[in-house]
Parts: sequence; C-alpha cells; structure tokens
Amino acid sequence: MAIVNWEIYIAHGDKPCAICEPLDHQVYRQGEGPQPQMHPHCQCERLPYATEYTFDDAQRERISNAYGIDPSFVPPSVFITKG
Ligand SMILES: [Zn+2]
Repeated sequence: MAIVNWEIYIAHGDKPCAICEPLDHQVYRQGEGPQPQMHPHCQCERLPYATEYTFDDAQRERISNAYGIDPSFVPPSVFITKG
C-alpha cells in the first residue's frame, strides 16, 4: 500500500500578499508545490490536510473478499481528510 500525505497552504493575515493569496487553501502532495516562506516576512504555512492510501491488486482482492463484494467496487485509493 502506498501512502501519500497531502498538505493545505494557508495564507495568514487579513491581507495576504499577492504572492501567497492565490495559493491560499491550495492542496499539494507533501514535498511538492510552493513551500512557505515564499518571500521575506511571509507568515504562511502548510498544514496536514489528508492522507491518501493506494491499494495494490492483492489488497483490493483481500478487501473485496472481506466484504463479500466484487473487486471492481473497491476503489484504487481512499482519501481521508484530517479533522
Ligand atoms: Zn506568505
């Protein structure tokens, strides 16, 4: 099973700068995309947003057997948001 963590970009302050404002609430794979601090005095941050679990074929078959459903009904991955 592959696990990928996703993060959400949070632009802080009443008036986020022009660099960070368009990034506000964008979601990126951990380690990819823009990272704060993008500029001097940047107060933005990236917070944990979700965990994505990707199943291989053997795991999908085990899940389908455990629940008595057709393997085609088992999604290739699930996306679980935090909080
Ligand atoms: Zn910023």
